[in-house]
Amino acid sequence: MPYDWIKSVTRVMKAASGQVKGLDRVPFFAISDEQFISRIMGITTREILSSPETYANCIIKTAEFIQADTIQIPSAYAGPLEAYAFAEVNNKMDSIQWYDYKPLAIKPGEVCKTEEDIEKLEIPDHSKIDLWETTFTTANIIKEKVNLSQSMGVSIWSVVQELRGIDAFKDIRRNPDLLLKLCEKIYESQLDVYNNWVEKVGVPPLIMYTGYAFNKHMMSFKDAMKYEGQFIKRFQEKIKAPFMLHNCGTKPYFKEICREIDFIAVNGSHPLDIEYWIEFQKEFPKITIMGANIDVSREMLTGTPQDVEEKVRENIINLAPRGRYIVSPICCLPWGVPLPNVFAIHKAIEKYGQYPIKIS
Ligand SMILES: [Zn+2]
Repeated sequence: MPYDWIKSVTRVMKAASGQVKGLDRVPFFAISDEQFISRIMGITTREILSSPETYANCIIKTAEFIQADTIQIPSAYAGPLEAYAFAEVNNKMDSIQWYDYKPLAIKPGEVCKTEEDIEKLEIPDHSKIDLWETTFTTANIIKEKVNLSQSMGVSIWSVVQELRGIDAFKDIRRNPDLLLKLCEKIYESQLDVYNNWVEKVGVPPLIMYTGYAFNKHMMSFKDAMKYEGQFIKRFQEKIKAPFMLHNCGTKPYFKEICREIDFIAVNGSHPLDIEYWIEFQKEFPKITIMGANIDVSREMLTGTPQDVEEKVRENIINLAPRGRYIVSPICCLPWGVPLPNVFAIHKAIEKYGQYPIKIS
């Protein structure tokens, strides 16, 4: 029987808008990166990215294998591919490292080693970057094959870290103007990705904003607003799609940021205390929680399928009864995650996530 993607899309839309009526069960959102896809498909990262057809096929097959309700193109965000684009136009391709079974990576801090590197930093034209072209075409193939419009990822601080490395944290104190100059250039580059996306793929239904600056162990909330938050507000003026906040850090400022900026959903695994999330839902009843405290580096990686089932159950019974809750292990499913633990997610949803949710 072919995978019922129409049913999955309807399920996600209903859950995200709080429509419990007619909703069969809690949806499952998974982030599968090149590492996990490579493991499931048995081919290397380069092979996965060798053509948009292969890439789209691998992404769809992996999502269906674990019975997820969503599809994410791993490269369609401000991660390795944005670093790759900057490296290419600034003649720093020797800072890019390819791996067989994980995403390509940049040596952090290589592209913007000096002040002059930042001053002279060229902004990429994404229509001329081969892997971005592959990504845009892949989004169109997925849309054609399973009728699923792809969300697009945006970020400032994740790119800052890739280009400037550890020096970015020193710049917060020593050279804030220089750091802001870099943020501005990344902002412009991210808008170029968006404009290309609109032109080649269409308006994305959702922006997945990876807001890594919003972490207590990284910087103060005030600094996070300065180097990331103010740009989110500016993006929101230009991009008329709803924003979802992804933060896989261990001390995220979820409540603080949601008081300042509009998000329709938050996607994270911390804090680990379920009570935090119960309180979060009370304070922000319109924001969909994706994940709560299902962390890929704990039960998923080292526990048993029963441990995973118990964690998913805890999240569902506490957060799903009124809708606006989506099961999501955060972040990317790691290379070593036992497959029975991944399958335990869908099984737990089938067992505890059927509407109406039984609370006891
Ligand atoms: Zn993440």
